[in-house]
Amino acid sequence: KKEEEEAIRRSNALENDGLDTLRKMSRQEYLKKREQKKLEELRDDIEDEQYLFEGVKLTEAEYRELRYKKEIYELVKKRTEEFDNANEYRMPDAYDDQEGGVNQEKRFAVAVQRYRDPAAEEKMNPFAEQEAWEEHQIGKATLKFGSKDKKQKHDNYEFVFEDQIEFIKAAVMDGVNVEQESSKQSPEASLAKTAFEKLQSDRKTLPIYSYREELLKAINEHQVLVIVGETGSGKTTQIPQYLHEAGYTERGKIGCTQPRRVAAMSVAARVSQEMGVKLGHEVGYSIRFEDCTSEKTILKYMTDGMLLREFLGEPDLASYSVVMVDEAHERTLSTDILFGLVKDIARFRPDLKLLISSATLDAEKFSDYFDSAPIFKIPGRRFPVEIHYTKAPEADYLDAAIVTALQIHVTQPPGDGDILVFLTGQEEIETAEETLKHRTRGLGTKIAELLICPIYANLPTELQAKIFEPTPEGARKVVLATNIAETSLTIDGIKYVIDPGFSKMKSYNPRTGMESLLVTPISKASANQRAGRSGRTGPGKCFRLYTAYNYYNDLDDNTVPEIQRTNLAHVVLALKSLGINDLLNFDFMDPPPSEALLKALELLYALSALNKHGELTKVGRRMAEFPLDPMLSKMIVASDKYQCSDEVISIAAMLSIGNSIFYRPKDKQVHADNARLNFHMGNVGDHIALLKVYSSWKETNFSTQWCYENYIQVRSMKRARDIRDQLEGLLERVEIELTSNANDLDVIKKAITSGFFPHSAKLQKNGSYRTVKHPQTVHIHPSSGLAQLLPRWVIYHELVLTTKEYMRQVTELKPEWLVEIAPHYYQLKD
Ligand code: ADP
Ligand code: MG
Repeated sequence: KKEEEEAIRRSNALENDGLDTLRKMSRQEYLKKREQKKLEELRDDIEDEQYLFEGVKLTEAEYRELRYKKEIYELVKKRTEEFDNANEYRMPDAYDDQEGGVNQEKRFAVAVQRYRDPAAEEKMNPFAEQEAWEEHQIGKATLKFGSKDKKQKHDNYEFVFEDQIEFIKAAVMDGVNVEQESSKQSPEASLAKTAFEKLQSDRKTLPIYSYREELLKAINEHQVLVIVGETGSGKTTQIPQYLHEAGYTERGKIGCTQPRRVAAMSVAARVSQEMGVKLGHEVGYSIRFEDCTSEKTILKYMTDGMLLREFLGEPDLASYSVVMVDEAHERTLSTDILFGLVKDIARFRPDLKLLISSATLDAEKFSDYFDSAPIFKIPGRRFPVEIHYTKAPEADYLDAAIVTALQIHVTQPPGDGDILVFLTGQEEIETAEETLKHRTRGLGTKIAELLICPIYANLPTELQAKIFEPTPEGARKVVLATNIAETSLTIDGIKYVIDPGFSKMKSYNPRTGMESLLVTPISKASANQRAGRSGRTGPGKCFRLYTAYNYYNDLDDNTVPEIQRTNLAHVVLALKSLGINDLLNFDFMDPPPSEALLKALELLYALSALNKHGELTKVGRRMAEFPLDPMLSKMIVASDKYQCSDEVISIAAMLSIGNSIFYRPKDKQVHADNARLNFHMGNVGDHIALLKVYSSWKETNFSTQWCYENYIQVRSMKRARDIRDQLEGLLERVEIELTSNANDLDVIKKAITSGFFPHSAKLQKNGSYRTVKHPQTVHIHPSSGLAQLLPRWVIYHELVLTTKEYMRQVTELKPEWLVEIAPHYYQLKD
């Protein structure tokens, strides 16, 4: 009775709260009023003794809760205002939120009401009609879920932030074999004493463990086996160990390929712990520019690209008894090429076991390709996962991801699970990390501790292990990851997944031969893999920062294999040096577009790596020795002629690092920019600036202090030094002398041009550039030292498409060099 009375009083109070006036007000007026109210009266509108909030009497507990949340809200808001987010991450126009900030105001209004009385929301919302219209616009899928949602909304998320994001719970991905979980726990688990014993008992709780004998039997009986199992079931870490335990390593090594280097390193580290050996001894890894193996190594994890390179030295892989092509579903370029090569050698090496393992269920395709190889399915285990979509498309997915993470962190008890956020790359992850730190700084003990763990390809090894460390009690971990956490790495304890729906992908236009890195919507298959990551240790939740309509209508079913969207020059060169000449008849699982193959041959011919008949030249053979893109290898090989190999390998090493050399702390941007300008003195161009950074660092005897003073990331520099050392070793192998010509910048630029002449562009009247060979409009990236200068002719290292098609790493060029260096490619027009 009392509750009923209270409810009536509430709704009366709400009615009296000027709702009629609100209805008469225009939307604009209303929002303005809201804004004023928020700013002036955030505190005052709560009348202390009476626990009144906007005319409604609250209980003491309600009042305290609201007060507390408002405090946090204010702090967060202050932080948010201070933090000016870069708008480089805006999504394509189609996704732009028409409402902009206006929508957020409305959200706040609705949020407050909902806090007070979920049931009163309909009545209270002065924009119900407008919303209904919007919902209709957003699409039928949302409408369908929208109505169902009304009843569930309030119990999920309470609203603390102004830029609150509304989610619609749309579906539940069913769990599989969940009941097994508890019975699977081996009794030893609780008794385990040492860390090593614990690792051993943990191994026995993995889903794959109960299939150990069957699996070994199947491998024994068949030469080629396709293995399918949910991510985290233990394929990568356990199968090689089982094979070792069963004696396969007596006949040779076990090689296991990974599409990503971080995965190869991290998994090898884990397996070496499980086996109780030192990493690099019995268990090791090999990735480009880093070989952590030894004579002793019997389990070798490596990137697929590295196994491809091993074919060059050992065409029958004689030192291996088992090759496991793991993460086959990723269909990277190297994995696809490996398929063809291992299938071929398996024919004349009957003793070689071949395992193709994949996290997705469409394994029939692999089976078909490998002459109907049997498929071994490891029944997975996953708790149900609730899928939530945003109500409207998010204008800025990075910001939305951060807000959602904070929203979860503040509203959910810390012990209940960690958060995994999928972002597209290092820059984005660093921005997110900074923003999260900024927004939670000063909140002190008001919120639980939030441990931020980034993970991406260039992250230093020491820091990679952090994501696997158990979360301390009372704290929560938020893992900011690239696609690597989709299937390659399993992080235990994740309960919430935030999926903005994007990944960075290479896209290639075979017509123009232009390749560019592009933030692209993911596929439905990827989205579902991502969601699945939240249901490993208990029921999970996945927040998709796009609408259900987007999911059903805009996402492709599957990711297009890399071989169909990339520049093939590198693998064509590798295959040619393996003596595979007839590429058009190579046994591809999904053949690349023949245009792309021809483009690659054309480029290699232009770089003089192939002769007219498509045969490898001496230059080509030398180029193939370098684990680099053919244009970079050509630049190095050409430096011989210009007597500047010393400088050119430094440049190549610096270019291989990517764009993580300079950093700009938010509070010292001017200093950082000035420090950076020093290296650009004389408008030497970005390549020479990179060289100057490297040589100056070397002059200080590789000083860390010097890096700090110049706003340069010392870790990136150390990596560059490693790479440079290896390139120096490779120079010797191809018999190029290390010669220095530091004072003649023109010859260095000519060597660069010898590799990159296909990447030349000419200034247009409007300040944009046009690429020379296949005309396309491009721009100098704002981070370039030449961005203001706009030279008439430039060559660039790569194209990146963000808001525009940008050239990154640009150097000025004299047009006559093009004719001198590549007369077969460019002719002078009079
Ligand atoms: P799959 O290959 O089937 O996806 P994995 O063999 O990678 O499965 O993972 C099995 C288990 O090992 C998971 O619980 C995962 O968390 C754990 N694991 C894998 N690598 C590491 C690591 N580097 N540190 C800690 N745990 C790890
Ligand atoms: Mg795996």
